[in-house]
Amino acid sequence: MASLIYSEEEYIAQYGPTPNDTPVNGWDSREPDKLVKTHCCFCGVQCGIQLKVKDDKVIGFEPWEEFPVNQGKLCPKGVKRYLQNEHPDRLVDPLIRTENGYREANWDEALNQTADAVRRIQSKYGKDAFAFLGGASMTNEKAYLNGKFARVALGTANIDYNGRLCMVSAGAANKMAFGVDRAANPWSDIPNAKVIILTGTNLAECFPILTDYVWRARDNGAKIIVIDPRITPIARTADLFLPVRPGRDSALAHGLLHQLIKNDWIDERFIEDHTNGFEATRELVEKYTPSLTEKITGVPAATIAKAAEFWGLAETSMLLHARGIEHHTKGVENVLSYINLVLATGRIGKPGSGYGTITGQGNGQGGREHGQRCNQLPGGRDINDQGHRNEIAEFWGLPESELPGEGLTACEIINDIEDGKIKGLISISFNPLVSIPDSKRTRKALEKLEFFAAIDFFMSETARYADIVLAGSLQEEDEGTVTTGEGRCVRLRNSVPPAGNARRDWEIICDLADRLGKGDHFDFSNSEQIFDELTKASQGGPIDYGGMSYGKIEANMGVFWPCPTTDHPGTPRLFEGGKFFHSDGRARFHAFDYRPPAEDVDHDYPIFFTSGRVVSQYLSGTQTRRIGGLVDQYPEPLCEIHPLLAARLGVFDGEVIRVVTRRGSMSLPAQIVKSIRPDTIFIPYHWPGKKAANQLTNRALDPISKIPEFKVCACRIEKLEGKTNPKMN
Ligand code: SF4
Repeated sequence: MASLIYSEEEYIAQYGPTPNDTPVNGWDSREPDKLVKTHCCFCGVQCGIQLKVKDDKVIGFEPWEEFPVNQGKLCPKGVKRYLQNEHPDRLVDPLIRTENGYREANWDEALNQTADAVRRIQSKYGKDAFAFLGGASMTNEKAYLNGKFARVALGTANIDYNGRLCMVSAGAANKMAFGVDRAANPWSDIPNAKVIILTGTNLAECFPILTDYVWRARDNGAKIIVIDPRITPIARTADLFLPVRPGRDSALAHGLLHQLIKNDWIDERFIEDHTNGFEATRELVEKYTPSLTEKITGVPAATIAKAAEFWGLAETSMLLHARGIEHHTKGVENVLSYINLVLATGRIGKPGSGYGTITGQGNGQGGREHGQRCNQLPGGRDINDQGHRNEIAEFWGLPESELPGEGLTACEIINDIEDGKIKGLISISFNPLVSIPDSKRTRKALEKLEFFAAIDFFMSETARYADIVLAGSLQEEDEGTVTTGEGRCVRLRNSVPPAGNARRDWEIICDLADRLGKGDHFDFSNSEQIFDELTKASQGGPIDYGGMSYGKIEANMGVFWPCPTTDHPGTPRLFEGGKFFHSDGRARFHAFDYRPPAEDVDHDYPIFFTSGRVVSQYLSGTQTRRIGGLVDQYPEPLCEIHPLLAARLGVFDGEVIRVVTRRGSMSLPAQIVKSIRPDTIFIPYHWPGKKAANQLTNRALDPISKIPEFKVCACRIEKLEGKTNPKMN
């Protein structure tokens, strides 16, 4: 029987060549005009990729095997990402809302109307009544520009970014423990670790290529410990799986430290020489015996003891975590409690030993470094530090008194819009209607805005509420830099021009600044000039890019910060020799006792609800829901439910059920899986409207990081009349 699968050569030999301009299922066999070495536009691994460009269109990709991080490998999102470039939904003109929907406008009209609205609202209600929301998938250059635009051109304190929903608990904890917010090690250290704890990270789906590093460690004999309420794909090959009850992470970390101390598996010398605060932590964890820890966390005492033994007796170790422990009202405390394990064993700042945070967004690291956070100035400076304020005010040529103070965080901005205190908003590449908890409230807030301008490349669900939509640029339509989850600043190359009349984001921002009378502060002709200003602004700050340039980054396939001078090679591994970034050079233990989540299960809502991602989708889905092959892989949200819970509720696989929380409800098919705790259900959050998991989630915030508690709230499941299991019909 003839094979139904043809190679290109076999097909052409049998049927003749396809017409030159006819791509078949995304397979475009035409010779490209050029191959552009750049990076994936999705997660924080920032895999190297070569985009095939013909006639100013991206028509495919080739692996970039020399780029050391992924060596040509890509996950499903990276393989399909080129298909977004030609999507018919691409915004190609500015749009202005009319009574009959949107009409196309020219740039002068759209930008003039936006500037008029800013002036009108600020003169009536004050500068801070106009807010700005940025994103962490954008380049370092844009992150810097967003911060400068908000403070210099808008003069508002209220600027924040969508990383507030992602990385901020880890960032705050890193600064508190180490004095600096960056992964301690290059990823090349991971394969040399002899034990790895992966806690709250669905690594294989959210950061797929890093799985390869963990597997290499396993091939070298490492023990892999996974801690999660779900047996995620990476957990399937773990040596030890700890099925923690949602919202109990710090208690589990305390239980592990209790065992390390009890068995004398700690490094007293390192603790003495390089840390502060151990005694209070020792006292705190004394009560966290394996049996108490089991009672709180649901993890068997023997498993806790075994995990502590693996960690305690290893020569080298790596702790990696992500949103699973960070998306909580005690996200910062959870992270600090796990960092205690690293410090107690002194295994940090050494080859094969250390710590890292998994960054979900493409520029989750760089996006939080250059001043688009409400409390931050360029170079990771603190907006409340008088010295830092003076430095940046002088650098920007402003009196320090004109530099706004600390503003509101992203969720607080939405809350203040809902309360009528903030009247105007510009957002760029941020889709809060899908990504912020309690979406009913977000919708109400957007409806209350007196003026809203959205800069985006597709019409996101949030942009539909805008008065003016400014057609911005896709990643491949601009150049710049991003900083990967390991702290390596890499170079994005411009592959194609912006589609139609769309413009590069930085050009839109600079034009708007000009119309607001601040054009002399935004006199940039290209991204490289913005990067050069960013590096100078960062010099001497906690996050120092001072010695970087586009040429240096390209020549070295990335440069790790700190890189303070042009002759500095960059710093792949931090804290070598036990030198931390606090002024006394010492790291800090933190003793936060466990406390329950903001909303725990009870009689009316007896099941834990948790949310997260799937491998084929990215964030609010604005891009990945438009890429056919990724949609096919996971077309709509499903509710993961354990067979025991399903049997108790009489729910069948595929049956449409209603999930109800105190915020709202949604109906969706049940997916019965053994890989989740029987007291917990899971729904991925990438879809809008009635399919949005964030209709259900709780907007309670961590008091330090102001991250919402996406990862735990209480729900119940209701059966729907007449909605029987399709598989039983
Ligand atoms: Fe690499 Fe992440 Fe892109 Fe996948 S989504 S190809 S892991 S950068």
